[in-house]
Amino acid sequence: MNNALMAEILIVEDERHIADVLAFLLQEKGWQVRRAEDGTTALSMVRQQKPDLILLDLHLPGIPGLPFMKQVRARHPAQAIVILTAQGEEDDRVRGMEAGADDYVCKPFNNRELVARVQAVLRRTLGAPPREQDIVQGPLRLDPAGFRLCIAKTHIDLAKHEFSLMEALMRHPTQVFTRDQLIAKMYAGDEEVFDNAVDTTVWRLRKKVREIRPDLNPIKTIYGLGYRFSGESS
Ligand code: CA
Repeated sequence: MNNALMAEILIVEDERHIADVLAFLLQEKGWQVRRAEDGTTALSMVRQQKPDLILLDLHLPGIPGLPFMKQVRARHPAQAIVILTAQGEEDDRVRGMEAGADDYVCKPFNNRELVARVQAVLRRTLGAPPREQDIVQGPLRLDPAGFRLCIAKTHIDLAKHEFSLMEALMRHPTQVFTRDQLIAKMYAGDEEVFDNAVDTTVWRLRKKVREIRPDLNPIKTIYGLGYRFSGESS
């Protein structure tokens, strides 16, 4: 069961540039995103992958949004659905909400509002994420609930893959991780990953830490092998 921090969201939208923006906004929040451009594809993805939430444009080729939603509802009564409607089309919005949408967002949407509405529905349907214990190693404290790395009283916000890399290292501070092992921690299997993703992320984490503590190197390079946690001055 996913919690609201790690949710999987299916975007059903045929206009690619809008789907791109939606995917970007949701991924930035750390959610996993899948995409479908028509109702038929989306239905089979819902069946196979059971997304935590569907962000559904009502104007779709093939099966339009409302019949799509009815078919989903018939099989998965508890499926969380947020609909996208065009501004001014109040009929759509009302019929969508009547058909069981959990919420709606009007196009053109405000980015922050969209994310806030998705988040609110996820919280309602998945519950608040369990409060995890902070991981403390040396001067560094990793806060899983806030996706932050803390040094003394200063907080560094981490992207999801930065957090996952740091989490792996700090949970096993004596273990050397290969790049492949770290990639597996950082990304779900279906994401596109660049060859130097680990090195770039390590570089960025070091930079973020050094902006606060110039003498501190959080990650040690083990030549020929990979990386290990380090809470030492360098
Ligand atoms: Ca559309």
